[in-house]
Amino acid sequence: MANVFSRLLNREKTPQSQPIPGREPEMVPNRAGGFAFQLDAWAQLDRFLILGTEGATYYASEREMTLENVGNLRACIAEDGRRVIERVVEMDRGNRAPKMTPLLFALATAHHLGNAAAKAAAVEAVPRLCRTGTHLYEYLGYQKLLGGWLGRSKRRAVERWVNLQAPEDLAYLLVKYQNRNGWCFRDVLRAAHPKVEGEERQALVRWAVKGEPPPDAEWNGRVQGLEKMKTAATAEEAKALIERYRLPRECVPTQWLNDAGIWELLLQEMPMTAMLRNLGKMGQVGLLAPFSAAAERVVAKLADTERLRRSRIHPIQVLSALAVYRQGHGERGKLTWTPVPQVIDALDGAFEASFHAVEPSGLRFYLGLDVSGSMTMGRIAGVPGLTPHVAEACMALVTLRREPVCYCAAFDTGMRPIALTAKSSLPEAMKATQGHFGGTDCAQPMLDALAKKIPVDTFVIYTDNETWAGARHPVQALREYRQKMGIPAKLIVVGFTATAYTIADPRDGGMLDVVGFDSAAPAVMSEFARA
Ligand code: CA
Repeated sequence: MANVFSRLLNREKTPQSQPIPGREPEMVPNRAGGFAFQLDAWAQLDRFLILGTEGATYYASEREMTLENVGNLRACIAEDGRRVIERVVEMDRGNRAPKMTPLLFALATAHHLGNAAAKAAAVEAVPRLCRTGTHLYEYLGYQKLLGGWLGRSKRRAVERWVNLQAPEDLAYLLVKYQNRNGWCFRDVLRAAHPKVEGEERQALVRWAVKGEPPPDAEWNGRVQGLEKMKTAATAEEAKALIERYRLPRECVPTQWLNDAGIWELLLQEMPMTAMLRNLGKMGQVGLLAPFSAAAERVVAKLADTERLRRSRIHPIQVLSALAVYRQGHGERGKLTWTPVPQVIDALDGAFEASFHAVEPSGLRFYLGLDVSGSMTMGRIAGVPGLTPHVAEACMALVTLRREPVCYCAAFDTGMRPIALTAKSSLPEAMKATQGHFGGTDCAQPMLDALAKKIPVDTFVIYTDNETWAGARHPVQALREYRQKMGIPAKLIVVGFTATAYTIADPRDGGMLDVVGFDSAAPAVMSEFARA
């Protein structure tokens, strides 16, 4: 009975421009003119915390994406502010989000708008999340934007932040983050008036606020070093101070920051994040050169998985360092250097190592990469050049390398060639998806596997969920595949924009949504495939 009514009520084959009959209340229009399943508010919160909303997507402006996600955040806070903070803390603990910005914003908003339970959780969470002065300033900056940061509970958070630092750590934070983005410790401490516990901390705060000379003691060596640096007359004197007091770059006057010898000493104690950010600079001053001791040191640090984990390096930090370093010049082209190939390879290794450990499932994976035009716009976590289509290939590479049975393919409204294998390098992966600008049909991978009779246990679709061009919904194609192949194949959707919809059916236990560039995603995917 192939008439107008049977076509209209067909639950097995519905054009993507219409909702599936019977599922209308659960489906929403996406921005491309298709229908997808409404994403749960908490799942959208996860997308926001990991992906952020910096930079416009193909379909929506930065402002529109931000408004929508801030609205969703507020709705989650109204429902359960404490749960929002717990989620933020969990994301932070697992180092799952590339940037602290969305986490700090969500924490500040929940602290400001939440109920008493949320506020109490926020006071606990602030010292945990604000590991650096920059984080603390950013958090206080959001409070200022939201209506003031000098309320009792917020001052209490600053007080805990100070009192939870060991004196030596507080000294380090005070010298390293003297001021950033218009904030400085003196102003924060003056305004927040914390009740500082312990003589050492009190002495440090008196130094920061009133400039009172610090006592001569081991725990505040860095403060003494900084004070002495202010009167250092030569680079040699500066070098001696850096070495003796283990001073960070922030304590070194700019006139000596073009000296390779200074950087050589800084590199010895340099935190991993600072090292990733300064690879180009160290090349430019002539320190990081082929076969140099510095290159060896950098490569060794990058190969140290335990150190990467302790330093809380997220794969995106490594990826963005690699993207800049291998170009041989900085963003504005002022700084130039010759990239050292061994450093590039070491960054590739560090990228993979910075994901959560994956236990290979050995199951058959079909990785389907959406290479439609919309994937070429946007910035994952605000990183310049990290569009969804670059990001998805880098994510797929991790699974290709870890899962032994993987088939990788690309699609827009049909299947497209892609040069990405387990042996591809990270720089190769970053180029693998370029050159496609077609429409979108996320059902293609399942249709392709069915047509070619490829046995698949788990489909993974990397997409922005803006599917519209297909004659049937992806979930319908999956059900047909399951039925005709006799395999209960699963579907994992890796979302690359912080939208409120997904192609995965939330009522089907064999489907899962994960967030693009969650550092836990490859591990979660293997676990879900195995379950
Ligand atoms: Ca698209």
